[in-house]
Amino acid sequence: MKPPVFAYHAPRSLDEALALLGELGDDGKVLAGGQSLVPMLNMRLVAPAALVDIRHLDALDTVEVDGDRVRVGARVTHRRLEGDDEVAFAVPLLREALRLVAHPVIRNRGTSVGSIVHADPAAEMPAVVALLDARLELRSSDGVRSVTGAEAFTGPLESALRPGELATAVEFAVPDPGTGMAIEELARRHGDYALAGVCARIDLDDDRRVRSAQGAFFGVGGLPERIELTDTLAGQSADALRPADATAFAREAIDPDDDIHATAAYRRHLAGVLLERALVRAAAAAGTDTEVRA
Ligand SMILES: Cc1cc2nc3c(=O)[nH]c(=O)nc-3n(C[C@H](O)[C@H](O)[C@H](O)COP(=O)(O)OP(=O)(O)OC[C@H]3O[C@@H](n4cnc5c(N)ncnc54)[C@H](O)[C@@H]3O)c2cc1C
Repeated sequence: MKPPVFAYHAPRSLDEALALLGELGDDGKVLAGGQSLVPMLNMRLVAPAALVDIRHLDALDTVEVDGDRVRVGARVTHRRLEGDDEVAFAVPLLREALRLVAHPVIRNRGTSVGSIVHADPAAEMPAVVALLDARLELRSSDGVRSVTGAEAFTGPLESALRPGELATAVEFAVPDPGTGMAIEELARRHGDYALAGVCARIDLDDDRRVRSAQGAFFGVGGLPERIELTDTLAGQSADALRPADATAFAREAIDPDDDIHATAAYRRHLAGVLLERALVRAAAAAGTDTEVRA
């Protein structure tokens, strides 16, 4: 199918983009990498009166890494972020997750901020944002606001973004060396959306015992949510982790859907298996610097 008729704007500055989006309100949509929006237009699942293309907004094409945070601008592609060694050193989960997003040709165009705002419950980056409680920066002609990973997702394909707003960046806090993270998913083919997936985080104390633990699933419910697993894992040795209670708890906490690809029962089982693997790998990664460098 062909997309419905729309006006096309390619503003040259952030102020111009925000003014346009403010005027357009509900009638306008931001065009970033187009890897989700263009198919949705072609299938006529959305029909905005106008697109505001952010391709000329070079100020949003930046990745900043300092001791405390990684800040990713809205024009940064998945591929660029994945290839950034400083980012992989600071927050290793980002490279690991981005390698699972679609195929390189899609990652070359799709943006990480676009994926987060698009809020597909099967996508990797929203789950990473929920797990790490990353902050999303949202700007409009009225000013700037920031939403946390816990506030960012409101439903399937619904984020906290309001009409007239542009997501300008996402910021991840750099964890301390006692933190380990991992992501696991099962997809029918490499690069497909996962049937189910999970990312996990474990923080260890100085004796390599679990201080806190969390998981965030994708592909198993309507939105990515962080699940607190500290009660089931606290005090366990990272080198002999027993995740059975945590996976049983998580299986109860999720609400997977049936669809043509898998039943809810299969997804629930799979989610537990994947969580167990992710927790064991996260515990092993804490206090090491293995991902630095791939
Ligand atoms: C065949 C195929 C397979 C895919 N597989 C996967 C996969 O396995 N995992 C995965 O996570 N993703 C997958 N994707 C999606 C891909 O990761 C997209 O890059 C991503 O979802 C959207 O990013 P984008 O920059 O292309 O956004 P666009 O498609 O341009 O926009 C998507 C939505 O977000 C809004 N938006 C984008 N940027 C902003 C912004 N800065 N401010 C406000 N609103 C904004 C748009 O208005 C639109 O509503 C796949 C895509 C395709 C085509």
